[in-house]
Amino acid sequence: MLVHLKKLVQKAEKGNYAIGAFNSFNLETTLGIARAAVKLKAPVIIQVSETTIVYAGLKPITHIVETIAKNEAVHVPVVLHLDHGKKFSSVAECIEAGFTSIMIDVSDLAFDENVKITKMAVDYAHKRDIWAQGELGKVIRDAKDIKKGEVREETMTNPKEAGKFVKGTGVDTLAVAIGNVHGIEKMINGVPQLDYKRLEEIKLQVGKIPLVLHGASGIGEKEIKKAIDLGVRIINIDTEIRLAFTDALRQSLIKYKSEIDPREIMEEPIQAVEALIEKKIKMFGSEGKG
Ligand SMILES: [Zn+2]
Repeated sequence: MLVHLKKLVQKAEKGNYAIGAFNSFNLETTLGIARAAVKLKAPVIIQVSETTIVYAGLKPITHIVETIAKNEAVHVPVVLHLDHGKKFSSVAECIEAGFTSIMIDVSDLAFDENVKITKMAVDYAHKRDIWAQGELGKVIRDAKDIKKGEVREETMTNPKEAGKFVKGTGVDTLAVAIGNVHGIEKMINGVPQLDYKRLEEIKLQVGKIPLVLHGASGIGEKEIKKAIDLGVRIINIDTEIRLAFTDALRQSLIKYKSEIDPREIMEEPIQAVEALIEKKIKMFGSEGKG
């Protein structure tokens, strides 16, 4: 079923676990995510980015997730979330289309501008009873030039600013930059260390606001559990879903090289996504919480 994010996060807070926020790109990845959630009775956030909306169209991708949530995942809670909404108009359009959660990410801008635009989106979402996520600090993408263990202070979330940001914007959840990075690079050259001291300080400054860990592909179970203990309630996985799907698709095309029915070729990629999501749900502690 399609639900609001609030109750899911409140329950996760009480139970000290995190909800997986998994990126969907199409029908097949949505099916893989939903089937894992059903199998493990876990709440899930199915999120789409602006680039997926360009690829699939807003209405088609909304209807795919909505319909699967209402039919295939009828007994587990599913949130449809906009990941990294870069423009206020994206936020408005997604809420209008039926999303049950949004993110406004203007973390490229200077602090005051970030606060101003984030607040606009938050106010718009709250008027329509939707929760909004903001980002402070910059979760960078494919940081080839950053050496392992190197800290770029200017890209990290400043704990004191985080307190001010939450108060100034009214965000319901906050995406933090504590060494986590987006993209494929870390899967090749090693996942960066998370700055837990910074995470602890951020949590002290923002109080009850649940924290969101982006770029969590490849991060090990021990590190994930520590982040959850320090207040992370939503964990985003994108890159590993892309890898699981495309690797299985390549193998499937070789294995069934004479097959011309796309449905036959797609079955194993769907299963690969399902298996990955099951692994993540167990790691995040949300199995049986739906
Ligand atoms: Zn992200």
